[in-house]
This record gives sequence, C-alpha cells and structure tokens, in this order.
Amino acid sequence: MKLLMLLGIFVMGALSMSFISEQSRNDLVQNAINAQKSAYAPYSNYNVGAALLTKSGKIYFGCNVENAAYPLCCCAERTAIANAVCAGERDFVAIAVVTKNAGAPCGGCRQVLNEFNSEMLIIMADEKGEISHEETLDKLLPLSFGPSSLK
Ligand SMILES: [Zn+2]
Repeated sequence: MKLLMLLGIFVMGALSMSFISEQSRNDLVQNAINAQKSAYAPYSNYNVGAALLTKSGKIYFGCNVENAAYPLCCCAERTAIANAVCAGERDFVAIAVVTKNAGAPCGGCRQVLNEFNSEMLIIMADEKGEISHEETLDKLLPLSFGPSSLK
C-alpha cells in the first residue's frame, strides 16, 4: 500500500500544487476512518479522524481529544500535525479529514496546516469514505498569514 502511495504522489516543486492518485486518496480516507475510531469526544459526540500524508509517503494519524474544560479540546487535524512533527516530519502533501457529515477543518486547523504547506490537499469525507470536498489549502485559507509574513 505504501508503495502504491509513493507511486501515486507527484510533487511538482516544494510549494506547487500536489497531486495524489485516486487510490492514494482513498487509502488516506480509510486511514482517517480508522483514526476516527480513537476519537475522545464525550461532549460534542462529533468524532473526527485525520490522516496526514508526508512527502515521503508516511501517514500520521489524529483524532479529536476533548476536555471537560472546553477550550482545551484539540482537533484531529492538529493532533495529526503534532504526531508527525514529533516524529521529525515537516513536509506534508495532503490530509484526509473524516466526520459523520464530512465536515470541513475549522479555521484554527487551517492556520496550523498553513504553517507547513499552504498548498496541501485537503480531503473531506464522511464515515463511509464518501469524499464530499477536495481543495488545496490556499483556496480554503486565502490571504493567509504564514511563515513568510514574518520576513
Ligand atoms: Zn480544528
């Protein structure tokens, strides 16, 4: 599966548009569905799973982790980023996010993803693996504030 994913990835330059094959896209969604099963969401009951694909073909998982002190809740996309960065990864090409209704990443997560690749592919799907939207991050977060803004 990883070999297929590697074959399916064509990255045209560090910050240019990325493309992944339909097989890789579906594999990523299935990984997000698996990650969703680990969600800890006793307050919202809105379980979210994320699967983050690196340029090298590795996948890192995330799920939402809620807390009785609501502001401390953490989204699936951000736990996936934290898992990957802890493992030394910083080059991301795509993320699949799965919820019961194929919800979009929140604004905070869009900002966090933007830190690493403003053109990564964002795939939104439901729990059955049906992809509802697919867009590059720069379209979901126009005129973003990122690392280059501080130079
Ligand atoms: Zn979020």
